[in-house]
Amino acid sequence: MFKTQVENAIDLLYPRSCVQCGDAVEERGPFPHLCPPCVRRIHWVRSPACTVCGYPFFGAIEADRECPHCILLRPVFGSGRTAVLLKGAARELVHGIKYRREIHLLRDVRAVLERAKELVEFTAGAALVPVPLHPRKRRERGFNQSRLLAEVLASLSPGGGVEEVLCRTLDTETQTRFDRGERLRNLKNAFAISPDFSLSKRKRYVLVDDVFTTGATLNSCAKVLRSNGAKRVDVATFGHG
Ligand SMILES: [Zn+2]
Ligand SMILES: [Zn+2]
Repeated sequence: MFKTQVENAIDLLYPRSCVQCGDAVEERGPFPHLCPPCVRRIHWVRSPACTVCGYPFFGAIEADRECPHCILLRPVFGSGRTAVLLKGAARELVHGIKYRREIHLLRDVRAVLERAKELVEFTAGAALVPVPLHPRKRRERGFNQSRLLAEVLASLSPGGGVEEVLCRTLDTETQTRFDRGERLRNLKNAFAISPDFSLSKRKRYVLVDDVFTTGATLNSCAKVLRSNGAKRVDVATFGHG
């Protein structure tokens, strides 16, 4: 099979082994860094699921509704979807990119999202807004993983595009001296609209983040969008953690 020089170089730098179990990945399939058994164990989320965080309901529930955790969150965004449960191989992809800067794993993330039809339909036509990193963190990591995810989603779902409408004005990660309550209160003031941006009432904004955990960060971002004129704000995450 024809391979470009760049691909050859990438293969040399990053031998094709499964990021989750270390087994060799032989075929040039859609998942270059995951072996087929690990791919089969990925849990893609389908309805019925929580309308806020996207966590699926197992068992007898047939309709979408809020899960008990999200009722307490009191979200200011409309609804939220997620592609996968963030465990096993899916979790390893996010951690590899985020903590080990293994950007090549983005190809596997793309392959996961290509198979997350409900999420791709959900983000179609929307302005995709990455949850921003503080400039210090962004420099340290070299990229914002939420921005990379938003770009992948934009390329998969027609009609939309990435708009970096938000910026992070407060470095919340340096606030370890505060207790959880204080950190949550500070989170409320951690985001702002980027200079030179104004929001459109007609657009639908979808906040994009790698993981939905408590939803507090996404809710803070949604509040800033809403209070600056956005009428429709939803949330899309790669995984529910
Ligand atoms: Zn594997
Ligand atoms: Zn939920």
